[in-house]
Parts: sequence; C-alpha cells; structure tokens
Amino acid sequence: MVVAAVAVGAFAAAAAGQTLQGGQQQQQKSPEVQPLADSTNASAAIGIGGDSSAATPSFMTVAKPSAGPLEAQKIAASDKIVNARAAKLAAQVAEQKRPKFVQPADGRLTSGFGARWGTTHYGIDVANALGTPIVAAADGVVIEAGPASGFGLWVRVQHSDGTVTVYGHMDSYSVYEGQEVKAGEQIARMGNRGESTGTHLHFEVWAGEDGLKLDPLAWLGEHGLSY
Ligand SMILES: [Zn+2]
Repeated sequence: MVVAAVAVGAFAAAAAGQTLQGGQQQQQKSPEVQPLADSTNASAAIGIGGDSSAATPSFMTVAKPSAGPLEAQKIAASDKIVNARAAKLAAQVAEQKRPKFVQPADGRLTSGFGARWGTTHYGIDVANALGTPIVAAADGVVIEAGPASGFGLWVRVQHSDGTVTVYGHMDSYSVYEGQEVKAGEQIARMGNRGESTGTHLHFEVWAGEDGLKLDPLAWLGEHGLSY
C-alpha cells in the first residue's frame, strides 16, 4: 500500500508538473514546492490515487487468492500445535512453581510436641476460628477419613516417602479414602470434636502408617515452614 501510494504520488506529481508548465503564474513562484501542493488535485483530476475507495478493492482481490482453504487449515493446525505446546509448558512451569509443602492450617500455635499434662502430646495444635480450612501439608493419598478415638474426626494422608500426616478434631472433612490430594488442597474444616478444649487443628507426622510419631515442627522446618 505504501509503495503504491508513493508510485501514485510520483505519477501525480509528474502530472501536476505537466499541468504547472502550462500555468505561467504558478511557475513563477516556487517550482519546487508547488507540484507537491497541487498533487492531490492533479491526481484526482486524472482518476488515480486520489480516490482511495476505488484503489482499495484492487489490493484486496490480489491478496485473497494466496490464503486458500488448505492454507487456512494448515495455519489453524499449526496454531493448535503451538497452543498445545504453550499449554503443556505453562502446566510444567506451574507444577514446578507450586509449593510441595504447606502449613496444614492458618492459625496460632497453641501447643507443641512432647510432654504435656503428665502425658505425651504427639502433635502440634494450631488454633483458629471454627471452619478454618485445613489443607494437605504435602501431596499424597488419603488413607483414612472418619471418626477416631480422641480425635473426634481425623484424616490421615500418606506421602510418597511413606510419611503420614494426621489431622484431628476437625468439624468436617471433604475427602475419602483412596483420594489423591495435592499440597494445599483443602481436606477439612477446623473444629472442636473429640478430646479438645477449643477450636483447633491437632496435626501429627508419623514416620510410616504405624510408625514413630515425629515432631511436626521439625518436619515442617525441614521443608522451610514454621508457625
Ligand atoms: Zn493436640
């Protein structure tokens, strides 16, 4: 379009120059500038370039035949491949970026692991409002979700290294045995069921399904987390 406009302009200028040579008064003034100033009128007069609505369709009809249905299909197909690759890459980046370990609940640490009230407290307590979301601390598989003595309700999640995280006293849970969960995925809501003296999450970490009970704060700390 630009090349055409320049060509038309040059032709128009040439035409204008010819016109000007016939007009004696204008030739006297400034021969260098006048042809440009008059070029629009000159080109309009000879029917080229000045009327854009007449010039545009000829460019459209030249451009169209090169993009036939087959070409369009090829372009659409290659777009799909590019989009699929982009989506796959975005998914990989998102998977790499997402946290693999998270705090099991927001809240205030009210009790640590170890001796307490003449017995052993095998987990940590995190207090917050009734219904506060409780999430899986890491990717894993739910191995139990339901009532448990002392816990009221509990959910146990086993992770790929065999470690089991245990969540207790919740008001309700929203997972089932065998369900795969991701770190940060909600599994329950905080409550005050079982042997509990206030709304909180009781969180334990076991070395295996029936393994040694570990200090959850140490385990969280190994993964860069703390309360
Ligand atoms: Zn507790």
